[in-house]
Formats: sequence, structure tokens, C-alpha cells
Amino acid sequence: MAKSSAPRRAAAQQLASLKAAGVTRVSRSARLPAQPPPSVAAAGAPSPPSAAPPLKGASTASKATADSGVTAAPAASLFAAKPSSLPRTEREERLRAIAARVALCTRCQELARARTQTVFGVGNPEADIMFVGEAPGADEDRLGEPFVGAAGQLLNRILEASRLRRSDVYICNILRCRPPGNRNPLPDEAANCREYLDGQIELVDPDHIVCLGSVAAKNLLGMADSIGKLRGRLFQYGRAKVVCTYHPAYLLRNPAAKKDVWEDMKFLMRDRGIELSAQ
Ligand code: URA
Repeated sequence: MAKSSAPRRAAAQQLASLKAAGVTRVSRSARLPAQPPPSVAAAGAPSPPSAAPPLKGASTASKATADSGVTAAPAASLFAAKPSSLPRTEREERLRAIAARVALCTRCQELARARTQTVFGVGNPEADIMFVGEAPGADEDRLGEPFVGAAGQLLNRILEASRLRRSDVYICNILRCRPPGNRNPLPDEAANCREYLDGQIELVDPDHIVCLGSVAAKNLLGMADSIGKLRGRLFQYGRAKVVCTYHPAYLLRNPAAKKDVWEDMKFLMRDRGIELSAQ
């Protein structure tokens, strides 16, 4: 019994992940096992312009640019300029193609065995603002959508207060599988999932990325500093400006920090030309 239930469970898991990601058809290439890791470009992400540096490990040091006040993160530079705009349907299709690969992904064997389904991302494929969290929790693992539990409810309230709707922005995580017991993502797991995250960033092509918590900031920007040190600064990741704030789950434990997150949202929106406090 135990022997035959594992493949059935894996098939059910894949179907749930695909459904949650809106995938109704799986192309032949997406059905191939993800060993060695597939390239996101092959999965449908646009290729960066040839002049652009490679996706990963392109630059090494943080450097403040005195004129703009923006700090370049020691991470990838994706696009030097906004790519010729991809139609919404094309973005959606390419995102679904990556989601289909993610649903079959077994790079992190412990996570692939333990997950109910993968949790890809949700929101506007043309969003100007992308929120990046840590990893799915129990509710997200069950429902296949990021930030749907208690932390997600708080994130929704933060968005509303900032005059944003959940459907205006794009929301995803460093990991697309729930770590058992909600432990922190391991460096290898984040590295395995990075190609998918970068694919989402390339396709959505946001102007701003908000790192929710230190796991997101550390992995996206390669910065080891605490969120307290990263707040109130603009970093650069490819074409996107990045701001860092506390994770909503931290706010549930430390409500006093909500005022700091409000300041961070005002900081973000001010950089977008919107004065929240004036509304
Ligand atoms: N916490 C996260 O970081 N991401 C989710 O999707 C849910 C909770």
C-alpha cells in the first residue's frame, strides 16, 4: 500500500499545484523531470537584452550611487531598461509555463515530498509593485496561493491602507514549497528556487519590489543586515527599486512595529510619486 500511494500522492500534488497556478494544459517540455534544473528562459521567460549582464552573480559589491540615493544590490542585474512591453496575455502564458515547471519540481527533495502543492505567485502580471515573502506556510500549502493565512490578512490590510488592491500587485515568495514546520528556507533551497523567482521578476517586470522580512531581503539582495538596517533605503535589483520592511508575521508578534511598516509603505509610495499621508 505504502509503495503505491507515493506516486499517487505526487500526482495529486502536481495536479493541485497546476490548478492553483491556472495551468490547464501542460506542454511536453514542462512534463520532463526537472533534473538537471530547467532554464527559466526555456520555460518562457524573455531573454534579457544581449547587452545585459548574466542573470546570476553579475555584480559583487554593494555600492551607493550618490546622485540617485539608490544602492545597487550585490545581486543580478536583469534588465538595463524596461523590455519592449510584453502583452499581458503573453506574460500570463509565460508565467503559467514557469508555474507548470514549478509544479513538477523536485530539486528540494524534502520539500517536494512534504508539500501538498507548490505555491507559485498571485496577482497582476503587469504589476508595478511586487511583494516577496519567505515561503508558504500551512494555509498557503493547503490553498496554493501565497499570503492567504493570518499574515496574508494583515498584508491585505497593509495594501488597503496604502490604497492598493491585492489584484493590483504581484505576490510571491523566495520558496515555492512549504518548509516542514515552517522552518527558515535553507540556502540550497533558496538557490534552487531562484531561477523561478527571477523568471517571475523578469516577466512581471515591476518598478518596485518590497522584501517582506529578512529572509526575502537576504536572499534577493544578498544583504545580511537586519531589516532595521535595511529600512528606509532604496536598493536596485535589475530594473526594479527594492525596499525592505518587516514581515507581516513579525507584525502579528510585534504589533508595535506596524507604525514602521506604515512609514515604509509611505516611503515606497512617495518614490512612486504618491503622498499617502496627504490622502
Ligand atoms: N509567509 C510568507 O512568507 N509567505 C507566505 O506566502 C505566507 C506566509
